[in-house]
Amino acid sequence: MLIGIGLGPGNADLLTLAAVKALRESKKVYVPGKMAAELVAHYAKAEILDFPMIQDEAELSKLWGNNARIVADEAREGIVSFAVIGDPNFFSTFSHLRRTIEENHPDIDIITVPGVSSITAQAARTNVSIEGSFIVSDGSPIRTKIILKTKNPEKTKKELTKEGFDEFIYAERLFLENEKVTFDVPQKGDYFSMLVARRSKSMQTSQLRGKLYIVGIGPGAIEHLTRKAENALIESEYIIGNGTYLDQIAPVIKNSKIIRSGMGGEIERAKKAVELGKDHVVSLISGGDANVYGMAGLVLEVAEKAGSMDIEVIPGVTALSAAASLLGAPLVNDFAVISLSDLLTPNEIIERRLNSAAEADFAIVIYNPKSRSRRHNFAEAIEIIRKYRCDDTPVGIVKSAAREGETVIATTLGRIMEYNDLIDMSTIVLIGNSESRLWDNRIITPRGYQRKYDY
Ligand code: SAH
Repeated sequence: MLIGIGLGPGNADLLTLAAVKALRESKKVYVPGKMAAELVAHYAKAEILDFPMIQDEAELSKLWGNNARIVADEAREGIVSFAVIGDPNFFSTFSHLRRTIEENHPDIDIITVPGVSSITAQAARTNVSIEGSFIVSDGSPIRTKIILKTKNPEKTKKELTKEGFDEFIYAERLFLENEKVTFDVPQKGDYFSMLVARRSKSMQTSQLRGKLYIVGIGPGAIEHLTRKAENALIESEYIIGNGTYLDQIAPVIKNSKIIRSGMGGEIERAKKAVELGKDHVVSLISGGDANVYGMAGLVLEVAEKAGSMDIEVIPGVTALSAAASLLGAPLVNDFAVISLSDLLTPNEIIERRLNSAAEADFAIVIYNPKSRSRRHNFAEAIEIIRKYRCDDTPVGIVKSAAREGETVIATTLGRIMEYNDLIDMSTIVLIGNSESRLWDNRIITPRGYQRKYDY
């Protein structure tokens, strides 16, 4: 048997009686360094196992393998201890040794004797009493949560599941009579109980490797956010986005670190997301759907150059879906979607596509009607479409769908330019074809917004 013993912060008076007993009963005691060896000296003769700080992973794993074999061979014959400063289960060399032995020598029984950890010992020296939740961090992602005072552990478990925790251990009356440690989380908790929540091994490895979510957050109001998007955001250590989008998802942000960038700066944002996403769980947010004139294209391009990494695009409600709902304009005939942003596509190509779509009698959906670089392309686009469509063709203008200032106008192609000043970078325009009837004015919504049917 192998016992991991915690020796406390380093002071001989802070060794526990249980630690002393275990040291005396061991036929062999190993320690990771001189400080532990000296503490142990009164009770047992300890041998130092060397764990040098080297970077070479292959070399390091060979070393751990060797040490694990030495300890395991002894532990097969009798009680062997590995004694560490502090507690053997908190940020300790022992955990690594334990994992290596469990993998390579699964026949060895392993138990631990707790020690006074530096985490609790510091309070006696700093005079800081902790009376509420606190975080102990070495900068790595949070994988374990220990919940005290769980009156209703089953309910707490449900809440933590939403945050990506998937392993739960309920512990009651630890080290006392009637001690209970179980995976079956009860509905009601004992006063002396706690719930330990973990993200499982598979989640841990994906966390270690990092994961980048490109999250479509929908057109505006938080109720359009999908459950999947919400889970990704909650799980993320970092959330990257521009100010407007971050404000939009503010109600669901919990412990994530926020990286805020201005409008524009897409390339810089994509690079940051890829860089962080290699080692951390990161969400890069994109308005509407990330695949529709959103961040997905750019990020995938940047990521390709940066080598392999784990990326998931989470679909969102695109502006077109929101606009069609608000207008009462279900798209039942074929339609063409065109972005007038000439940042990516040269203007001649946009014009050619408009001509083709209009001539082929597609209904036309216009994203980015007012591009950042050219002010007049919207008027030009309408001129092109008018060559092929009559003036009473139905037109819908939806500005700031599901956001403050939401405005819905149903009008006709002949009158659309009356609204030119209203149309901005947050507006989407739908233009019917020969099969379209006027958009349906029976649609009503409970929220007050500016709606106008102007045929
Ligand atoms: N990825 C986004 C589109 C980004 S391109 C999506 O799927 O919706 C930006 C264009 O999307 C804007 O110029 C506008 O045409 C449209 N848009 C985005 N959000 C909108 C909203 N809330 N209301 C109306 N149009 C919107």
